Amino acid sequence: MVHDNHHHHHEDHCAHAQDQAARAPLALVAAEECCAARGEKLTPLRRTVLEALYASHRPVSAYDLIERIAASGQKPPAPVTIYRTLDFLRAQGFIHRLESLNAFIACPAAHRPDEPVVFMICETCGGVDEAAPGPVLAALKAAADQQGFTPARSVIEMTGCCSHCRR
Ligand SMILES: [Zn+2]
Ligand SMILES: [Zn+2]
Ligand SMILES: [Zn+2]
Repeated sequence: MVHDNHHHHHEDHCAHAQDQAARAPLALVAAEECCAARGEKLTPLRRTVLEALYASHRPVSAYDLIERIAASGQKPPAPVTIYRTLDFLRAQGFIHRLESLNAFIACPAAHRPDEPVVFMICETCGGVDEAAPGPVLAALKAAADQQGFTPARSVIEMTGCCSHCRR
């Protein structure tokens, strides 16, 4: 890879892309260890899908994943197989699904799979930042309580402009 010290905003050179590429090797090792510790297997397809997600700093749809796997010369998995694989990776906490985009992204943070997350989706570079919702969840719960509503799941996604695109 050619090193470029100039500061520019080409989407493939955004900080999200660099961060994602930098953490991919360790994240894949951690995923292997995690699966082993839980008595699960990171099968070749699960690994391939996780690698494909780490190769992108933007959320990728299930069909894009199939195309990317096919483009890499491997046998493209059936949609049902891809969805099952994505379900597994989500259940392990390795990836997230962005509801508003119906697409998936590797999770860089080592948090529990069921932990609530706020997603910030950059409309310029396509990168996704995540943060803990903090008091936002308590406010949502209070609003639900007031309506006598029992929430099962909350999705908090924001679109906008990330810190490095704003510069
Ligand atoms: Zn970015
Ligand atoms: Zn996460
Ligand atoms: Zn951005």
